[in-house]
Amino acid sequence: MSVVARTVLVTGGNRGIGLATARALGAAGHRVAVTYREQAPEGLYAVRCDVTSPDAVNEAFDEVERELGPVEVLVANAGITRDAPVTLMTEEQFGQVIDTNLAGAYRCVRRAVPAMRRGRWGRIVLIGSEVGQSGNAGQVNYAASKAGLVGMARSLARELGARGITVNTVAPGLIETDMTADLADRHKKALVAASPVPRTGTAEEVASAVAWLASENTGYVTGAVIPVDGGMGMGA
Ligand code: NDP
Repeated sequence: MSVVARTVLVTGGNRGIGLATARALGAAGHRVAVTYREQAPEGLYAVRCDVTSPDAVNEAFDEVERELGPVEVLVANAGITRDAPVTLMTEEQFGQVIDTNLAGAYRCVRRAVPAMRRGRWGRIVLIGSEVGQSGNAGQVNYAASKAGLVGMARSLARELGARGITVNTVAPGLIETDMTADLADRHKKALVAASPVPRTGTAEEVASAVAWLASENTGYVTGAVIPVDGGMGMGA
């Protein structure tokens, strides 16, 4: 299969899963841009963007379009956690997570779609989570945001399929990044022990699923939720 170089934007591509994804897509021959808030990553084209700001999202896309051309592959990866049991979870904790993980992805998709429609080709990959389907105690806000991404992706898949644009969700399990660095060891061990593949995953393993979904010959894959979770969420 010949490799067509596409313009890619990965949100939150300065570290963790986003950075591994940006590197994988760059290695596949694409023109890759990443967003960052404070610390741009070395060796990648980076634009500053906070996905909670519609203006910042629009400006980041403007900049990428000027430098690399219209975004053909969008990886909506930026995400946060603000964990607490439901009775202690504040409105602010709930709202921040929804605003970043769910509304942030929506803002990027909304800005990306017109050019993809004009080009009659596009790949949108939303980074969800295994807990979006199985739920997780202490993560009412986070699990709701990730479940919401699946509904968003499937609605978009129906809206955009006839235009050559696919929209899929990748649902990672427990991946070793800054996001999971603070999890208690006993909690991690329990999750790993209950998993068919009894280890944590790597950002690179998630990245390779995203790179596959972004490739040319996946035009018949849309509305799917691709787990990269060692089988943790099987059946959920
Ligand atoms: P990290 O905490 O390592 O990275 C999070 C990334 O999101 C950073 O680049 C961060 O930027 C960016 N980000 C956060 N808030 C915003 C914002 N408001 N605007 C723009 N960028 C923002 O986490 P991971 O790499 O682990 O997570 C990446 C994605 O994968 C997330 O959506 C997460 O929910 C999901 N995921 C992770 C799992 C895991 O086990 N690690 C499991 C399942 C899903 P900055 O550096 O500026 O903070």
